[in-house]
Amino acid sequence: MVVTTTSLPLFVLGQGVDPHSERGVDCPGELPPASDPALVARARKAKEALGDRLFVLGHHYQRDEVIQFADVTGDSFKLAREAAARPEAEFIVFCGVHFMAESADILTSDRQKVILPDLAAGCSMADMATFDQVEEAWEVLEDAGIAGVTVPVTYMNSSADIKAFCGRHGGAVCTSSNAKRALDWAFEQGEKVLFLPDQHLGRNTAVLEMGLSLDDCVVYNPHRPNGGLTDEQLRNAKMILWRGHCSVHGRFTAENVDDVRARVPGVNVLVHPECRHEVVTKADYVGSTEYIIKQLEAAPAGSTWAVGTELNLVRRLGTMFPDKTVMFLEKTVCYCSTMNRIDLPHLVRSLESLAAGQVVNQITVDPETTHWAKVALDRMLALP
Ligand code: SF4
Repeated sequence: MVVTTTSLPLFVLGQGVDPHSERGVDCPGELPPASDPALVARARKAKEALGDRLFVLGHHYQRDEVIQFADVTGDSFKLAREAAARPEAEFIVFCGVHFMAESADILTSDRQKVILPDLAAGCSMADMATFDQVEEAWEVLEDAGIAGVTVPVTYMNSSADIKAFCGRHGGAVCTSSNAKRALDWAFEQGEKVLFLPDQHLGRNTAVLEMGLSLDDCVVYNPHRPNGGLTDEQLRNAKMILWRGHCSVHGRFTAENVDDVRARVPGVNVLVHPECRHEVVTKADYVGSTEYIIKQLEAAPAGSTWAVGTELNLVRRLGTMFPDKTVMFLEKTVCYCSTMNRIDLPHLVRSLESLAAGQVVNQITVDPETTHWAKVALDRMLALP
C-alpha cells in the first residue's frame, strides 16, 4: 500500500502563527490540561501536609508541571544557598539533577535530608569527569613537573568528589556567574589552572574575559594517554581545559547564529557561556542563566531575542515577557533530557512518601567528601 502524506499539514495546530516565537501556537478546540489534575491535587495535598518541614527547590530548566510546586526557583548555586538558608526545613526536595542535590547536602545541616525525585536525573557534563580520571590527570601533571604550580578549579556542575579533589589540592569551585573572579583568584595562587569539567566555560572566560589567547589553552582528553598532550604542551599552557561539555549548550553552532540573523532582522542573540567559543563570539550577549533572565527582564518592549540555553527556560521566558519576542536559537528543540526526568509522577511519589514518613531517593555525601568539597565551595564564597 502506498501512503501519501502530501495532503497532511505538518503542524495541524500551528497554522497561521508566528514561527519565530517560543510562545508556541494557539490550540483550537477542547484540549486536556497540561498537567494531570489528579496528580496536581495529590502534590498539593502532600505539600500542605508537610508544611514548613518541606522546602522544594526548582531549577530553571525544570518542566512547568514541576516548577509550579517550587518554593524557590534559580540556578544550581542559588538553589544550594537557598537550601542552606532554610535550617528549619527537614526535607529539601531538589527538582534538578544529581550534582545539585549533592551540593545542597554539602551546604545543609546533618539534620536535613535532601531528596532527588528521580535518581536517574544526572548530568552528562558532570559525568564527563570522574574522580579516577581526574586523579590520573593530576599524576600526569606531576610527571610533567607542573602539578605544584597548577590550581584546580571546577565548575559547580561537577560531582561532589571532584569538588572535594579541588578542595584538597588548593583549588575552588566556580559558577558561570563568578568564573572570572575564580580564575583571577586561581592565577594569584599558581601559574596554571586545571579547569573542570566544562571546556567551553573555561575557554570563554579565559579568552573573552581575561585576555588569554586560544594558544594559552590546551584540552586534556581523559580517554587518551597523557591526556593527548605532550609534556611540553602542558608546560606551555596556562589553561588546561578538561574535555567536557554540556550536551544541551554544546548543540548550538555558529551557523545557528548566522541563520537567525538572516531570518529575523534586528534580533538580539543571547547565549550561555557553556556554548562553544565560536557561538559565544558571534552572540550579542553572554551570561549565566540568572543573567539571561535579567537581560530579558530589562529589554525594551518590542525587542526580539534568540536565546541559546535550555528549552524549558526559553519557553517560560517567552510566556513571562509577552511584550518581547523570545525564540530558541536552534530550529530543532533541545531539552535537557536528565532535567526532564523529574516529572509530576516522580515529584508526587517523593512528597507522598515523605508525608507518610518514608524518605525515598535521599542524596547523601560522605563526611570526608563533604569536608573537602566545602573547603572548595567556601573558597568560592570568599571571592571578592
Ligand atoms: S543543561 Fe547541561 S550542564 Fe545542565 S544538567 Fe543538563 S546536561 Fe548538565
